[in-house]
Amino acid sequence: MKAIALKPGTKQVSLIDTDEPQVGAPDEIRMEVLRVGICGTDREQVEGGRSDAPPGMDRLVIGHEMFGRVVATGDAVSNVKTGDYGIFSVRRGCGKCPACDAGRSDMCFTGDYTERGIKAADGFQSQWVVDREEYFIPVPAEIAALGVLGEPMSVAAKAIDEAMSLQWARLGDFTKGDWMKGRRALVAGIGAIGLLAAVVLRLRGMDVTGMDVVDENSLRPTLLKELGGTYVDGRKVQVMDFDGKVGEVDFIFEAAGIGELQVTLLDALAINGVYVATGIPSGTRPATIAAGELMKQVVLKNQVMVGSVNASIDHFRQGITYLSEASKKWPGLLEKLITRVVPFTDFESSVHNHDVNDIKVVVEWKK
Ligand SMILES: [Zn+2]
Ligand SMILES: [Zn+2]
Repeated sequence: MKAIALKPGTKQVSLIDTDEPQVGAPDEIRMEVLRVGICGTDREQVEGGRSDAPPGMDRLVIGHEMFGRVVATGDAVSNVKTGDYGIFSVRRGCGKCPACDAGRSDMCFTGDYTERGIKAADGFQSQWVVDREEYFIPVPAEIAALGVLGEPMSVAAKAIDEAMSLQWARLGDFTKGDWMKGRRALVAGIGAIGLLAAVVLRLRGMDVTGMDVVDENSLRPTLLKELGGTYVDGRKVQVMDFDGKVGEVDFIFEAAGIGELQVTLLDALAINGVYVATGIPSGTRPATIAAGELMKQVVLKNQVMVGSVNASIDHFRQGITYLSEASKKWPGLLEKLITRVVPFTDFESSVHNHDVNDIKVVVEWKK
């Protein structure tokens, strides 16, 4: 079968011929891959950034944002049948820590987990894939067109869930009912993850402002506004002036991945606010920040800042539920997040060229 493979640490990425995976254990599922999304992680990988080949191999099949259709199941698979749509999750546990033992490899203590398409395990950019039923998340046929957004949506769902668990644990007694409804959220960076976070925050009743550095009438701010959000151009409003000009916010979802901005955003946070960061800054450029001023505020205003990466199977399921709800509330809107569909034979243009108006570029393996 065909697959897209990379020599880790180099820019050598190519379409290869490799063995077709088969169901080899009773709890395994074989899927034909329909679409695989590309994100910043893939683009970093093909620029020679972080990625590891499986043990004993000198190449890695990339791709972690998959969507496919079941074509075969092992004898012990009970809840999944041929023809079902679904996705496989990304991370596989280390097998030696309590989080991984509990099925929460997204909270792995050792760092010795593997990740399909990223770290020591082949990914999903291929015609067929096989994995265990425990890593399968069903996608209803009605939202098959959005299935490829399942993985990035799981990342947004986890981050919001983590932040809200903290708020509930410390403020629940004072905010009976729904803490999110009617409160103000700031989403910094409205790429795919930021927009998906805005979808969740809007579904949960928050008043959402999105911040980025693109023109107001371009696609991403337009979609944000269709969700009922407000756009602020970060080139016109400095982060340190945000609270004065736009107002303080109770919740910050960060998806920009720029270190200095990530810290400075704290200035916009209100009393008892929560801030969740998901962006991974590249490079180590030193930044000048008003550290004392910001930390004084964190203490005096009882604020929480938390980082979040990856997602549990429950967050994948939650993400699929959010996609279903959003497709009913805003019919046709989420489809617009998929800005480019590239046939696998033309994969180079998906991983190397990134247009400022692209939100989610996907490789199509089968229609
Ligand atoms: Zn990704
Ligand atoms: Zn672990």
